[in-house]
Amino acid sequence: MLPVIALVGRPNVGKSTLFNRLTRTRDALVADLPGLTRDRKYGEGRLGDQSYLVIDTGGISGDEAGIDQVMARQSLMAIEEADIVFFLVDGRAGLNPADEMIADHLRRSAKPCHLVVNKTDGIDPDTAMADFYGFGLGNPKPIAAAHGRGVLSLIEEVLAPF
Ligand code: GDP
Ligand code: MG
Repeated sequence: MLPVIALVGRPNVGKSTLFNRLTRTRDALVADLPGLTRDRKYGEGRLGDQSYLVIDTGGISGDEAGIDQVMARQSLMAIEEADIVFFLVDGRAGLNPADEMIADHLRRSAKPCHLVVNKTDGIDPDTAMADFYGFGLGNPKPIAAAHGRGVLSLIEEVLAPF
């Protein structure tokens, strides 16, 4: 069985960009598996020596109030289905109340979770990450999904136990 990575986070942090980056390398198989909601997109990918499945989630509206809206059902389902969660935040936008709610949920979840700070291209990664240490989700991991920076080392580090 391939390890399954769920990408969660509020809209516009770069989940789909990372999904495409993670799945395009070999098979670029971006397909909905039968019987699963169209709210989630499933893809297979390979980077370095690691093969995996990725779940992209969408449709979380940051405009709505409360954890139930922020962590829309499809995101909660994706977390259930996954072995590993990548919680994406926007390193340019800094902290956001919706991020705090998602962090809250993930801290209580038993799933291994990695806090991924995206969009660190052209900015100082240390400054971008500084806001996010307080989440209590371990050391933030800087990437730039749009350019691929940090993505291979993230996968190698996180999937090493699998
Ligand atoms: P999603 O809503 O979380 O799926 O976010 P998207 O993947 O659709 O990306 C939202 C916006 O952020 C798009 O305009 C992307 O081009 C941009 N974006 C994604 N990754 C990066 C990155 O690494 N650097 C920068 N500068 N922009 C990015
Ligand atoms: Mg998206």
